[in-house]
Amino acid sequence: MNKTSKQKGLFLDRDGTINVEKNYVYKIEDFQFQPGIFELIKQYQADNFLIFIVTNQSGIARKFYTERDFDILTSWMLDRFRKEGIKITKVYFCPHLPEINGECNCRKPSPGMIIRAIEQFNISPVNSVLIGDKKRDILAGKNAGIGKNLYIQNLLEEGIF
Ligand SMILES: [Mg+2]
Ligand SMILES: [Zn+2]
Repeated sequence: MNKTSKQKGLFLDRDGTINVEKNYVYKIEDFQFQPGIFELIKQYQADNFLIFIVTNQSGIARKFYTERDFDILTSWMLDRFRKEGIKITKVYFCPHLPEINGECNCRKPSPGMIIRAIEQFNISPVNSVLIGDKKRDILAGKNAGIGKNLYIQNLLEEGIF
């Protein structure tokens, strides 16, 4: 019997983690899934993790693209995941930039997006995992109390998937 009856979450950064980093990706044709990422996520899904994406999207604040562009790309991405048999429970994004919008609590390394997921989906932070490609991802996970915070680069190097 699970003591807490809480769920485990896998928190994934998007750019540089799920898809290859190309700076402010918002077009489908520029969105290239990282080799091995489906297999990696499927391992967690098989272990009953709920899958979340937590992504800084300051390109919206910078007016490089709109929230609608982001939504269109997100719908396409979720469809691709679905075709792979992967269910993404929710995508959280921060459209802000401090210089433009002032401080927010969602832009990583702040833990706002992760904390929202923890509350909305009854997630146990300590039993959860975050995977990102930048220090600010790892810090956001730590700031939210996530148990394991991993660099995608290390997973790739270790040949885990
Ligand atoms: Mg990233
Ligand atoms: Zn924000």
